[in-house]
Amino acid sequence: MRSFTGNKCTIEEALRWASSCFAAAGLERPRDEAEILLAQLQKRDRLKIFLERAGILEEKAAAAFAAAVERRLRGEPLAYIVGRKEFYGLEFTVNREVLIPRPDTEHLVDAVLEWVRGRERDICGLDLGCGSGNLAVTLAFHLPQAVLYAVDISAGALQVAQANAARHGVVERLRFCRGDYFEALRGIEPPPRFNLVVANPPYIATAEIETLPAAIRDYEPRAALDGGSDGLEAYRRILKGAPPYLRGPGLMALEIGADQGDAVLALCRDSGLFHTLTLHRDYSGRPRVVLGLY
Ligand code: GLN
Repeated sequence: MRSFTGNKCTIEEALRWASSCFAAAGLERPRDEAEILLAQLQKRDRLKIFLERAGILEEKAAAAFAAAVERRLRGEPLAYIVGRKEFYGLEFTVNREVLIPRPDTEHLVDAVLEWVRGRERDICGLDLGCGSGNLAVTLAFHLPQAVLYAVDISAGALQVAQANAARHGVVERLRFCRGDYFEALRGIEPPPRFNLVVANPPYIATAEIETLPAAIRDYEPRAALDGGSDGLEAYRRILKGAPPYLRGPGLMALEIGADQGDAVLALCRDSGLFHTLTLHRDYSGRPRVVLGLY
């Protein structure tokens, strides 16, 4: 670390320095990490960086890279360092106020878009715990006639979601509400009723949070992860609060932990809200989303 002063150096020298830092810190693919970090930081193609590695890294860029390497060495996720993450082909601004969107959650979007086909004009949707807005914004982007409410208890998260909605040109069709799930909708006249409800709620059992990789445990918002003592608390609250806000025929799509399929299906069944319940699986066959038709 100390050997890199931010003075003029070539891209290759900077990459070598960074990969030696990463190697010393025990990261698995230090050179890859270094190239990806620099490419992401400069919003350039990794291949291009590689091809131009004999070129000079300007002082400011070198200093920014050194700072980013330092953050990475402390274990911070790449997405927070570079301030963005791709989700379903769209780029989302992220910061530590929000969970980093995961590829797992793309299955939920797939399942919803499949159901929506043929009823595009009539969608009034609700995203509970919108975080970065990845679900609400992606759905609005792909459903140009839909209106969606995006709810989050965190003002910081709503700010990020709003920025992402503006960035992708869907802000006019999104309504942002701050509050604890359905409480956020209280007082809206006339009360909105939804034929689409989506959520990627916190679903890690509290005691398990300490066992998560440090990059998640130490950096991502607790409230976005902590699902209470058995990891199912958020589902209970969503199912309990939902009835006055549902307008059938509709779909509720809830992301779940890979081992929560049976438990969440049972909660949904007991709620009596749905006439049909299915599990949507990821490519490796693990259940990822519970779909309830009402
Ligand atoms: N809806 C966001 C996502 O899917 C945030 C979810 C959360 O904070 N638990 O990533």
